[in-house]
Amino acid sequence: ALPITVRTLSETIGMKVGELILKLKNLTNSLFTINSGVEFEVAEMIAIEKKIELVAKKQVTAESSLEATITERKASANQLPRPPIVTIMGHVDHGKTSLLDRIRQQYGLSSDVVSTEAGGITQVLRAWRVEKGGKSTTFLDTPGHEAFTKMRARGANVTDIAVIVVSASDGVMPQTEEAIAHARAADVDIIVAINKVDLPDANIDKTRRQLYQLNLLPDTMGGDVPFVECSAKTGKGIDELLDSVAVLAELAELTADPTQAGSGTCLEAYLEGDRGVIATLLVQNGTLSKGDVVLCGATFGRVRAMYDDLGRPIEEAGPSTPVKFIGLDEVPDADDPFYVVDNIATAREIAGKRRERRSETDRFKFQAVNLDKLKEQN
Ligand code: GDP
Ligand code: MG
Repeated sequence: ALPITVRTLSETIGMKVGELILKLKNLTNSLFTINSGVEFEVAEMIAIEKKIELVAKKQVTAESSLEATITERKASANQLPRPPIVTIMGHVDHGKTSLLDRIRQQYGLSSDVVSTEAGGITQVLRAWRVEKGGKSTTFLDTPGHEAFTKMRARGANVTDIAVIVVSASDGVMPQTEEAIAHARAADVDIIVAINKVDLPDANIDKTRRQLYQLNLLPDTMGGDVPFVECSAKTGKGIDELLDSVAVLAELAELTADPTQAGSGTCLEAYLEGDRGVIATLLVQNGTLSKGDVVLCGATFGRVRAMYDDLGRPIEEAGPSTPVKFIGLDEVPDADDPFYVVDNIATAREIAGKRRERRSETDRFKFQAVNLDKLKEQN
């Protein structure tokens, strides 16, 4: 059906029906009645003569109005600096977790990081904030490249800076190259951390040359990749590593608007006994507050309880903050984007629609597999 009738157009732009029909005839060479539909482009042309801009109104669904709200939020001018989000990547056993532990030991927000179980929440959070020289940084310990790749594939860019860890005793390994490729594809800044320099068989020069060959070049060689030689064991180079992060972060001018409703990405989620769904979210924009209604992928709920990276109960969380919270009705995917929405009815409606859609895709996949099986059997 055409979007607007002659009658409505006449009322909208304040032109007499007779005059309008005449104009339409001249423009299109066809005959119109008061009930005829008018092409949007034609209606637009006539309206412009009357200095009226016609705007096609999209069918408003809960989902489309949420999209509009999100676009509005993104255009907000109240941008303030935010801490960088750093992901540590590299070959297995090259020291990713050890480096992160070292960084947390030296600059974590609390000294009793490991044993915290405040509120009985088991600490499996893989995101931590550290602070050095008044600047905070959020570190993510990605369990593997798959998580990173999957998130990126869905457009969820949760990283500003990738620290590529390479053991100086092993040098560049296959997963090192993979990590570099992922970081490049995600278009994030790279810092090279040559780790395990304390080992007797560490060969820093050889490791460096291998990295240069992959086109990772320090500024002394005309590149822009900071190289840091470090040891998670002795603590050498940890300061320098954090300083490099701070420099890159400053250059990147990372910002977010803490005054807006919170949004970001789910990092992980699981079901814990009678507590229900526990989700780790990374707030990337706005502020998430206790009591907020959250829509996360195809799940929704109110923030009943929220904890920081040390397991301490908190009331709100601003940009670049990882939080754990209880309140979702089901377990979201570990890369679902989340948004705070105005009311629980909207959240329920959108989550419901998404669930329907997902179960439809699942059903089709299921059928496809069965068909293949049938073929095999015949
Ligand atoms: P990941 O798999 O990359 O997370 O590596 P881990 O952090 O689990 O470290 C693998 C092994 O290397 C562990 O036995 C660590 O103790 C050891 N390791 C990590 N960093 C260093 C380092 O700087 N020096 C030495 N000597 N050993 C290290
Ligand atoms: Mg590890």
